[in-house]
Amino acid sequence: MTGENTEIATGLAPLAMTEKRPRFTCRLMFLAMAKCITNAILLHLRYKYLRIDVVSQIHGALQVLRSRGYRVTEPRKRVLKVLAEVQGPVSPYDIQEILQRKGEYVNHVTIYRVLELLCSLNLAHKVLLVGGFVRCTLGEVGGCHRFVVCRECGALREYTDKVLCEEENAVAQELGFRAEQHFSEFSGICSKCQM
Ligand SMILES: [Zn+2]
Ligand SMILES: [Zn+2]
Ligand SMILES: [Zn+2]
Repeated sequence: MTGENTEIATGLAPLAMTEKRPRFTCRLMFLAMAKCITNAILLHLRYKYLRIDVVSQIHGALQVLRSRGYRVTEPRKRVLKVLAEVQGPVSPYDIQEILQRKGEYVNHVTIYRVLELLCSLNLAHKVLLVGGFVRCTLGEVGGCHRFVVCRECGALREYTDKVLCEEENAVAQELGFRAEQHFSEFSGICSKCQM
């Protein structure tokens, strides 16, 4: 009897499996398709919002230029656009090359002057540790914009610190100076690279 039982049991097992397998494959296919569609939607949204982000960044920067009495010239617009689009720091030569690839030409000296102006307005910053220019990520946030750089992956974080400014003012005063602006950068390992 036990033999029959096991035979029935083993006889049933393959049947149950063959019944389950197509359903299982179907579910896998459905999951793969759903994943594909979700990825495509996410990619589209990311691109869409990245574009909106770039457009709003340029728009905000142009408003700052106008409000401070500077004309919105074509080279200024072009450099701002490159800074808004690129990830990471760029040199004036990098900016020139990026523009050239788009069929736009701005000479190197003009790019450098535009960058100087943008830095003076806190729209861009020169980060010495990475040897390049970056767009400001703090917007209209007052105070001195400072940087911390990951020495593994080059990730940049911009921040302000009122207390640090006050302490540095006190140091300047002790040295007989009146501080006007503070710059600081320090390197470390970012949270992703610590893992
Ligand atoms: Zn900034
Ligand atoms: Zn890192
Ligand atoms: Zn300061």
